[in-house]
Amino acid sequence: MKTIFEKISDREIPALIVYENETTIAFLDIAPISKGHIVVTTKKPYQNIYDIPEQALGELLNTVKKVSIACKKVFQADGINIINNNEPAANQTVMHIHFHVIPRYIGDKVGFDFPHNEVSDDAKKEWYELLRSNIV
Ligand code: AMP
Repeated sequence: MKTIFEKISDREIPALIVYENETTIAFLDIAPISKGHIVVTTKKPYQNIYDIPEQALGELLNTVKKVSIACKKVFQADGINIINNNEPAANQTVMHIHFHVIPRYIGDKVGFDFPHNEVSDDAKKEWYELLRSNIV
C-alpha cells in the first residue's frame, strides 16, 4: 500500500508542492506549525533514518537545504528548525521518511518541549562506551 506521501508524489492526492526533483519532493504541511512549514520527503518510500540508503539521504538533505534557504528568504525567518521523527515513540505519524522545515520567528509561540536532564558521570561513561563500540 502506498504511503500518503507517495500518493502526493504520484498526484493521487493534492498538495501544494513547492519543489521536486528526480528523487525528492517538498510540499506545504497540511497543518503547519509555523508560517512556511514544509515537509521534504523521498519519492521512494523509505520508512525512516534506519533504512534509507546514504545516497538517498544525501539527496534528501540537499533538498532540505534548498527549501530552508528559500524559507529564510521569502518569509524572512529568524531561524529554522529541521526535524526528523523516527517511529511513533518519537512522534512519527507518517511511516515514510521526511524532514520538517519549520521557519521560526523571534517571539513565536512554538515550543518543542524537550526538557534537558542532569545525568551522572557514570551513566554518561556507560553511554559513551556503548556508542563508541557500536557506531559503524
Ligand atoms: P510526522 O509526525 O513527523 O510523521 O509528520 C507528518 C506530517 O505530515 C505532519 O506534520 C502532518 O501535518 C503532515 N501531513 C500529513 N498528511 C499530509 C498531507 N496530505 N499533506 C501535507 N502534509 C501532510
